[in-house]
Amino acid sequence: MAASVAAAAGRLRRAIRRSPSWRGLRALSSEAPPTQAAAVRDAFLSFFRDRHGHRLVPSASVRPRGDPSLLFVNAGMNQFKPIFLGTVDPRSEMAGFRRVANSQKCVRAGGRHSDLEDVGRDLSHHTFFEMLGNWAFGGEYFKEEACSMAWELLTQVYGIPEDRLWVSYFGGDPKAGLGPDLESRDVWLNLGVPASRVLSFGPEENFWEMGDTGPCGPCTEIHYDLAGGAGAPQLVELWNLVFMQHNREADGSLQPLPQRHVDTGMGLERLVAVLQGRLSTYDTDLFSPLLDAIHQGCGAPPYSGRVGAADEGHIDTAYRVVADHIRTLSVCIADGVSPGMSGAPLVLRRILRRAVRFSTEVLQAPPGFLGSLVPVVVETLGDAYPELRRSSAQIASLVSEDEAAFLASLQRGRRVIERTLKRLGPSDVFPAEVAWSLSLSGNLGLPLDLVELMLEEKGVQLDTAGLERLAQEEAQHRAMQAEPVQEQGLRLNVHALGELQRRGVPPTDDSPKYSYSLQPGGGYEFGTCEAQVLQLYSEDGTAVASVGDGQRCGLLLDKTNFYAEQGGQASDRGYLVLVGQQDVLFPVARAQVCGGFILHEVAAPERLRVGDQVQLHVDEAWRLSCMEKHTAIHLLNWALREALGPGTEQRGSHLNPERLRFDVATQAPLTPEQLQAVEATVQKAVGRDEAVYMEEVALARTAHIPGLRSLDEVYPDPVRVVSVGVPVAHALDPASRAALHTSVELCCGTHLLRTGAIGDLVIIGERQLVKGITRLLAVTGEQAQQAVDTATMPQWQRRELQATLKALQRRANTAVRKLEMGQAAQKTQELLQRHTEGPLIVDTVSTESLSMLVKVVRQLCKQAPSTSVLLLSPQPLGQVLCACQVAQSATPAFTAEAWALAVCSHMGGKAWGSRVVAQGTGSTADLEAALSAARAYALNQL
Ligand code: ATP
Ligand code: MG
Repeated sequence: MAASVAAAAGRLRRAIRRSPSWRGLRALSSEAPPTQAAAVRDAFLSFFRDRHGHRLVPSASVRPRGDPSLLFVNAGMNQFKPIFLGTVDPRSEMAGFRRVANSQKCVRAGGRHSDLEDVGRDLSHHTFFEMLGNWAFGGEYFKEEACSMAWELLTQVYGIPEDRLWVSYFGGDPKAGLGPDLESRDVWLNLGVPASRVLSFGPEENFWEMGDTGPCGPCTEIHYDLAGGAGAPQLVELWNLVFMQHNREADGSLQPLPQRHVDTGMGLERLVAVLQGRLSTYDTDLFSPLLDAIHQGCGAPPYSGRVGAADEGHIDTAYRVVADHIRTLSVCIADGVSPGMSGAPLVLRRILRRAVRFSTEVLQAPPGFLGSLVPVVVETLGDAYPELRRSSAQIASLVSEDEAAFLASLQRGRRVIERTLKRLGPSDVFPAEVAWSLSLSGNLGLPLDLVELMLEEKGVQLDTAGLERLAQEEAQHRAMQAEPVQEQGLRLNVHALGELQRRGVPPTDDSPKYSYSLQPGGGYEFGTCEAQVLQLYSEDGTAVASVGDGQRCGLLLDKTNFYAEQGGQASDRGYLVLVGQQDVLFPVARAQVCGGFILHEVAAPERLRVGDQVQLHVDEAWRLSCMEKHTAIHLLNWALREALGPGTEQRGSHLNPERLRFDVATQAPLTPEQLQAVEATVQKAVGRDEAVYMEEVALARTAHIPGLRSLDEVYPDPVRVVSVGVPVAHALDPASRAALHTSVELCCGTHLLRTGAIGDLVIIGERQLVKGITRLLAVTGEQAQQAVDTATMPQWQRRELQATLKALQRRANTAVRKLEMGQAAQKTQELLQRHTEGPLIVDTVSTESLSMLVKVVRQLCKQAPSTSVLLLSPQPLGQVLCACQVAQSATPAFTAEAWALAVCSHMGGKAWGSRVVAQGTGSTADLEAALSAARAYALNQL
């Protein structure tokens, strides 16, 4: 038996290698009338709901929620990641999930999981596809039940002949010390699958990992044999069942996961093809309406399913590319990802341009053609995903606009090339600068490979070396401009969380964060909070019984009044003291939520032990400033709806004590009048000094309230409602329609109790983040006053000037950038000559701007990586600029932010920054004293 399995495995591997797709096979005949895709999807969901007690959850948006490791949602499990990681808030609905099934919109383009290059070429991969999945969390069921359910569904419900199905299981990985997954193998054998069709593979094929670290485990796959006994099996993967049972640690080792889970995914398009007796996903009712519409709209010969060399003129490939890409574009735009300049939007822009090129160049489509396909997509997918129906018109117009813009760019590009060619001698290469200007985002935005292709058609060579140099310069510039990476901070890992749950430690009670009151004089009084130390963690995440000696640690308390970063509001900071020992302050840099526990990041100058009683103090000025910004954001959200219409949607927001940021979905950039109106609406609400009401209510009570604002987020139940000017009960009374006339939002943030303290709001920046999304920056209170006083004018006024300035600026920017880089390099060299090697450089340098000073500091640290650098730059009127960076080796004890703060407060000023780089300003006539203070502080820390 073993020999026959081995032989079959060999055959299978060869077959897979030879035919990774369904190309080149004759169609199977099917006697029964084909089941429609919608019925296949429904049958999957009702099978798991009705027969096996699963709860159905809607597809998540294809825009990942709070997961920077993903460009797009690319599997059903993405939205359940917090469950696998153990970080799900125990009070959220998701924490109660045990058996779940859904049909998830997935996009695999760009990033690690990209199938973009295969699309069009084969008959089984799409950039957008639907993944049908079922899950069992926390050991609800495991291998045996998962495999039986899958087998039952495929063979009995869908009626797929058993002898067409092959399965694979994990054959072990001796290098990782992992044995074969014999449990899965035996489950299949017991289900009656003959051993000849149960094959084992190595970790590449049958071991699934979420990332470099994190939950992982063996998987077992179900494949369908397209050949059906005629010759060697031609397999296509249908369904993947993953059994998460290990955790990949930072050191590469595998540890058992505290809780085991089942995670499965099956491509709907492939399943439908099988059930409709087709060899290609394109020959199903999910795609045929699109292929028909393309045929009618372009007048190209009808689609005939040819691939590879048989597809002369790439006509059928073009059909597939266009049909696939318009689905992806529609789904993404409906979920708020529009074609743009970086990240996922950039990938989408490439997809759009690829579709335009295939439709116009190969299929000879008329202009505006792509947009005309959107209603066909909505017709095929709109019932399953209603959001498509809702934004159908918006999608069509965005696609058409982008298509027109690209075609115009192409035309202009051709003219630029013609003109340049006229100037070139016969043996000249095409200048890199010109090619670059055609490609650059700010200019024509043509893909570089397309520019090369256009030149190739003309028989001209491109100066590729020059182009490379330009690309490098650009990358360098970007690195210099990049905001310092947000530090992740301390986190609880899956084991720490598992251990806390096992011990039955309840989630941190953070309700004291809401205990503050407004005093008669208008000031806020914040309560302190006494709490007990439940657990301490060293920086690497190990649980420890005590800390001290300046150690940075994670601290878990039974309760806290610190606001942990969430909902776009920055974390609180402050300090704690041991009860009975008021004179030693333990600074708290931030607080973060992990699976319902709040982890405080603390520096411990003295001993702190598990069991100690502590008293917590939040930084009140910091908190109050956050509260002002947060309430201001709610007013802004409401004012935007007043100005732009009731359908106006928030796309994200963030606030810290300095400023607030608000992203809003817009059809077009805001007009100066709209910006002015928005500001005025907020200012009026502030002027009325309205009461802000907050109350916790059952989540169900918030459904179907017209005008109520909520984000695409998972809310806890009960949920907090924040309403301005009307009590929550009134706002939630559907008859009142109050939420249509004032700000009512689901929000866990901390808010002012009256709007007056916002003082003022000025929008100081507005830009198109991507097409369809506008980002607003605003300041409040005194900062707003300053913005006006110092004639940093409101945005609506600025806009009028901006138009004139823009052209000038673009030219000037390049020159300034080059100049600054040169100057910074020169000053860096001078400083390096003046200082012999050592741990510290503290000095003065003449520069005109803080950004320039930061550049010098960064260049210095780059050249002398073990040196910590602080530079002061005196300005004509007694002001002094300050910038510093701390060597990696000196952190974490020594932080740049504290250093800059020490020096700038010495000069009566302020400072800001991160643990690694910081900047600030102050005023002093005695520069030497400031330098000495800087040296003294650093030497004390090093
Ligand atoms: P393949 O090897 O065919 O690319 P995969 O191993 O990448 O598949 P999984 O990540 O296991 O697939 O996804 C689960 C299921 O989703 C697959 O079994 C398949 O049915 C479907 N699937 C995966 N990628 C695509 C795609 N690009 N287009 C359509 N369906 C897909
Ligand atoms: Mg794949």
